Amino acid sequence: MRILLVEDEKTLADTLRRGLANEGFVVDVTHDGVSGLWAATENPYDVVLLDLMLPLKNGYDVLREMRSRSIWTPVMMLTAKDGEYDQTDAFDLGADDYLTKPFSFLVLVARIRALIRRGAPERPVILSLGSLSLDPVARTVRRGAEPITLTPREYGLLQYLMRRHDQVVSKAEILDNVWDPDFDGRDNVVEVYIGYLRRKIDSPFGVQTLSTVRGMGYRLTAD
Ligand code: CA
Repeated sequence: MRILLVEDEKTLADTLRRGLANEGFVVDVTHDGVSGLWAATENPYDVVLLDLMLPLKNGYDVLREMRSRSIWTPVMMLTAKDGEYDQTDAFDLGADDYLTKPFSFLVLVARIRALIRRGAPERPVILSLGSLSLDPVARTVRRGAEPITLTPREYGLLQYLMRRHDQVVSKAEILDNVWDPDFDGRDNVVEVYIGYLRRKIDSPFGVQTLSTVRGMGYRLTAD
């Protein structure tokens, strides 16, 4: 059984690697998200243990990109207690299990064995919020059964807002995450695209799920 461990805390990574090797697993270790994603793409693993806060690319992005490349290896997220994200996000994005640090090594091994027994069914990871759903593999969006056609930028914006649903997301965060880092276009580009999205995901369906929070940003909620 072969395990990929993506963990930037070197002492912890080393302890886990030795412990898992003693349990009979073959363990590869990488210390950042980019090399972790590369390893998970290039090699067949039975389980990936994925830390959340990683240099170069965080655990969520690694997981999302794995799934969008149709790599369904079971993933266990390793999260910090007061992390920015929670396990709900991890499951939304297609993690199969999660453990909050610090965790017991015996519990980790038991959960790894359970994941291996369950195996890796091929399945799409569909984000949904109320009647709105987004399939990151097929890159399709629906309200109920009705397909919605979006431009790539609108799609990127919606995917970001769905991942951050029910939170107020600022224009600056949207620009950082949906537009290229060196984008220096007009300041109101976010407003414009929010308007486009509303006309596609809300207005035709008589709902108001994408709201403006004055002076703070935007919030996407369930209908
Ligand atoms: Ca970390």
